Amino acid sequence: MHTAFATVETTLAKAMAHAPAGWRPPVVVAASKTQPEPFLREAIALGISHFGENRVQEMVEKWPPLLEEFPQLRLHLIGPLQTNKVREAVRYCQTIETIDRPKLADAVASEAAKQGKTPSCLIQVNTGEEPQKAGITPRELEPLLRHAREISGLNITGLMCIPPVGMHPAPHFALLKKLADRYGLPTLSMGMSSDYVEAARMGATHIRLGTALFGERA
Ligand SMILES: *Cc1c(COP(=O)(O)O)cnc(C)c1O
Repeated sequence: MHTAFATVETTLAKAMAHAPAGWRPPVVVAASKTQPEPFLREAIALGISHFGENRVQEMVEKWPPLLEEFPQLRLHLIGPLQTNKVREAVRYCQTIETIDRPKLADAVASEAAKQGKTPSCLIQVNTGEEPQKAGITPRELEPLLRHAREISGLNITGLMCIPPVGMHPAPHFALLKKLADRYGLPTLSMGMSSDYVEAARMGATHIRLGTALFGERA
């Protein structure tokens, strides 16, 4: 993993050399689904502090002792969130990347108030408008954003997307960037192992890397 992470950092530095002035390399969020504790520890030892989990259940099983031991860690929820899992998501995550409906925005906001927390929340945009994929369509963004901000009172800081498999990701990253700029949202979670260079060049502030760090998932 040491070599893998070094490669990611070098690749990012090279990609950012041609970026507009003032752009910084994106934060690496290690997508750690299915990874066992020794791999998590290895990543932490390399200085990785942001981790993304897809399932709240798995997060609760793996992370509490590590969060105690390493207070610098920041967990992101990067998979779909059911309202019955909101309490645990708010307890363990600094960032919830998958807000996709008004009811969920309400639930997260009220749970956050109860726990005295202000998680950063991203809205997941289904830029490819794929029927089976989570997230809202681009045209649903404005009403959801308004609801989340004005009615739920949620701290919406950005957008997240997962481009369709097998398609060129650039138009999807460009669309997400355009939407984020239009609504004044600073955080852009886009780019995975296969396309993070492209994402970084197009304004990603966070990239979610699984395979590129940990190798193929078992
Ligand atoms: C698994 C996962 C990733 C990482 O995928 P890799 O291709 O292994 O880098 C990123 N984002 C989400 C939402 C994921 O579920």
